[in-house]
Amino acid sequence: MPTTAYIGIGSNMDNPMQQVNTALQSLSTLKGSTLCQQSSMYSSDAVGPGQQNSYINAVAELNTELSAEALLKQLQAIEADHGRIRKQRWEPRPLDLDILLFGNQIISTPTLSVPHPEMHKRHFVLYPLAEIATELVLPDGCAISELLMQCPVGELLKVK
Ligand code: AMP
Repeated sequence: MPTTAYIGIGSNMDNPMQQVNTALQSLSTLKGSTLCQQSSMYSSDAVGPGQQNSYINAVAELNTELSAEALLKQLQAIEADHGRIRKQRWEPRPLDLDILLFGNQIISTPTLSVPHPEMHKRHFVLYPLAEIATELVLPDGCAISELLMQCPVGELLKVK
């Protein structure tokens, strides 16, 4: 049985909209997986040190036969293809891919925390996710609609 996974996509370097588009193309050709839905693209202000460009964010829904760990490896390979070199947290990045949800699973290993620990407070995750999964309920029983009510839309803008 395939698992429905939600992937958070973000970029704030080197033509972010194109980075997100090519990431979606890569996700659509991922082995053992089908790209079922993709949200609109949203722009949001960067979090982190110094002056950084705004981010472009989107969320994709995948049906996948991969395990969560195997999916993470594939996502890291796509990031690497986009020229990302890991240095420090919150640095500008050509492409960041996160597993937001992996079915109804709760995963806590040294390499993987699912649901993504920050997702419930990030407007740039919750709004695109809700766009493609209006009725979603997280593994802890919390509905996406409840999370949205606690997370102001702020400066988040739908751009495409
Ligand atoms: P970041 O710099 O925010 O992209 O963090 C990347 C690191 O987070 C990787 O080394 C992953 O092993 C780890 N990680 C933990 N949970 C997740 C997740 N749900 N999705 C993606 N990476 C994760």
